[in-house]
Amino acid sequence: MDYQDQIARAAALIKESTGFYGLTGAGISTESGIPDFRTPGEGIWEKVDPITTSSVEVLQNNPRLFYESAFNRFASITLAEPHEGHYALAKMEQMGFLKGLVTQNIDGLHVKAGSRNIWEVHGHLRSGYCQGCKKRYSFEELVHQVELKRIPPICRNCFDVLRPDVVLFGDPMPPLFYEAEETLRNNCDLMLVAGSSLVVYPVAYLPRLAKRLIIINLMPTEYDHIAEIVIREKCSKALQDLVEKLAAGE
Ligand code: NAD
Repeated sequence: MDYQDQIARAAALIKESTGFYGLTGAGISTESGIPDFRTPGEGIWEKVDPITTSSVEVLQNNPRLFYESAFNRFASITLAEPHEGHYALAKMEQMGFLKGLVTQNIDGLHVKAGSRNIWEVHGHLRSGYCQGCKKRYSFEELVHQVELKRIPPICRNCFDVLRPDVVLFGDPMPPLFYEAEETLRNNCDLMLVAGSSLVVYPVAYLPRLAKRLIIINLMPTEYDHIAEIVIREKCSKALQDLVEKLAAGE
């Protein structure tokens, strides 16, 4: 099958489906200027092991290191903007095709692009909270304190250390992950996975809940052998072409 046939076949599967869901990873946001973890030569993992800075252990034992390394990377991510691929997924939802979207990304770009039924299962960068009393803060408040060199940022209420609303290495998965898992288990007959290497568990287990799989990725993934269609193209182009094909046939 050539690329155009793959897009046509994917659109046909989506139209037949009664439970079409999406799953995205860091690869969908590389075209918005945010490096992923595993792309050879560019992924974050080749420069620094994120476990040594983005973990609960570091936040608790060396909060200054967490805020001077991982947090700076998080703060720079908030400046990114969505691209055609993020907008295409939002459009598929508005058109009534996509029932929901699970993302591993913390960048919030799907929300910025207009996706509504979304599970950000690794958290996001819109807010934070106090590790001690759990008082909630905006993410900007954390950034503001760091800019004022109050590192780590501290709770006004109990003076414990603040943290962003992201799932760090060593954190348990949030309840909304299990909600997404349950919804997929009961409803998903087709899943589109865009820009994920599918090696980070437990999220990488979710495609097993779908009856059929479409994968968009520039590189091979762990699930290519069981996918119905594997599209080797950039997320921006493939998702835009797919939404245009869906719109053309409406
Ligand atoms: P990953 O880095 O393991 O895999 C990214 C995949 O996307 C790779 O297989 C790569 O080939 C592919 N890819 C890269 N650019 C692409 C493009 N333009 N089009 C199509 N495919 C492309 O990412 P992962 O599977 O999401 O797992 C990494 C973990 O890192 C996740 O848990 C996530 O929370 C976190 N993370 C998030 C961000 C973010 O929020 N943007 C960035 C880095 C890491």
